[in-house]
Amino acid sequence: MNSFSLSQFSRHYCKRKGLGSFSLYFESDGEELIAHKIYFDPVTFLDFIRDVPNARLNLRDVPQIVAPIELRNAIIQATRDKVIRDDTVNEKIQQFMAVHGDSLETNERLLYFAQGEKADRAEELADSLNEIFYGLAFDSKSRSNTRSALFDDIERAFSLYEEAAKDPKILQSPVVEENIDTEPEQYEFRIYSVGQANCSALIRYIDQDKKDYRVIVVFDFGRARRKRSANPSLQEMINKIDDRTTILISHFDNDHINNITNYTQKKTDRWLFPPCTNMRSQKANLLFYALLKCAQRKTSNGSISIYKTPFNLSPQIRITQYKGTRKGDPYQSTVCNSACLVTSIRAEHVSILIPADALYEEFDASVQNESYTHILIPHHGCYYPLAACGAISKMLDSERVHGVVQCGTNRYGHANVEHLRRYRDVHYFYGTKFYQDRNTVAKKPRNAHGGYGDYYFISFNGINCGYR
Ligand SMILES: [Zn+2]
Repeated sequence: MNSFSLSQFSRHYCKRKGLGSFSLYFESDGEELIAHKIYFDPVTFLDFIRDVPNARLNLRDVPQIVAPIELRNAIIQATRDKVIRDDTVNEKIQQFMAVHGDSLETNERLLYFAQGEKADRAEELADSLNEIFYGLAFDSKSRSNTRSALFDDIERAFSLYEEAAKDPKILQSPVVEENIDTEPEQYEFRIYSVGQANCSALIRYIDQDKKDYRVIVVFDFGRARRKRSANPSLQEMINKIDDRTTILISHFDNDHINNITNYTQKKTDRWLFPPCTNMRSQKANLLFYALLKCAQRKTSNGSISIYKTPFNLSPQIRITQYKGTRKGDPYQSTVCNSACLVTSIRAEHVSILIPADALYEEFDASVQNESYTHILIPHHGCYYPLAACGAISKMLDSERVHGVVQCGTNRYGHANVEHLRRYRDVHYFYGTKFYQDRNTVAKKPRNAHGGYGDYYFISFNGINCGYR
């Protein structure tokens, strides 16, 4: 039994992996609290943050679901053992326990928040924990747990990002010089099999035999940790990323960014991040800073470009973002998901919607009022009741819409059959699980067609699609 603790538990892991320290951040999916334990070698990591040439980024993220009672016990134990040698942190812990201590005396994980009040309470809880542990590095060698100096550097990197977010560059002209409609048969959209994560790409063949291609845009860069089998086509695509490739990150959730840290060499300047302020309390996560730095290292001028949405990436590619305020946590989704960059590609024969984890009502009106040939089913096919679908009938009632589901083994109950049934047909990779609710596995819905392959492709000639 792997119980949660604020000390000790990492020693074995650190030793085995040759990594010295770890940091901690909390995330909530609305119903459960997940503690991410991030292991890193502080010396190489600091070099990385300081832009020392050839410094390696070596991070390991070990997520663990934490029941409230476990969290409470871990905090009490750590206080008793004086594990944290930082008075400010200890003061914050006391304040936290005064507010939340009693409500954590339950074995029910966080479901009681979801049932009682809005499940955004769970996100708030994660936020306040991040406020406490932000910047705290647990050093297994010296056994001291104090605020690490490298976080000051990380802080500086973060304020640069925040400054840029306040004053985003406004895109004057399309940044991707591609016109899909001139040679539609040369263009292809690929949705990669990456388990419970998102990664897809727009590619263009550069020869008539369709052997070689350029990667035009990559949409998200995630890969499930538990995805065991190799994906040579994904690897090939990543190898073909060059300085003209644009990489769009829809939002800063792990399953959309985590594969970036495996590819830290400089390849392209063209990164698009969502303008999303007040990130610290939502996601005070080391992985994000590493990602930020990672992208900075790849940009020639060392800066991060954030563009004001909506904008056109090319005549056919439009990027939008939800402008409203999400109330609560309606369908297993978080506030952070609602602020995803949503992309639509509208060419002559094919129109593809790439919403990442934003839900239908969070799409821009210009997106909602259109029909599509293909929709990458939002938020990994999360629970989405039929009753909520009224406003999106145009998008989904189209005769020709195909849904593609991107999920793998997970504890959230994705993909939900009720949601998938809304599509005329659904394409999925073999190995995808279907759920009736988060605990009940369901039979595959009748409209779902599975396939083997590294990716699902959609050709812009409007004729070919399938698994490869
Ligand atoms: Zn996601």
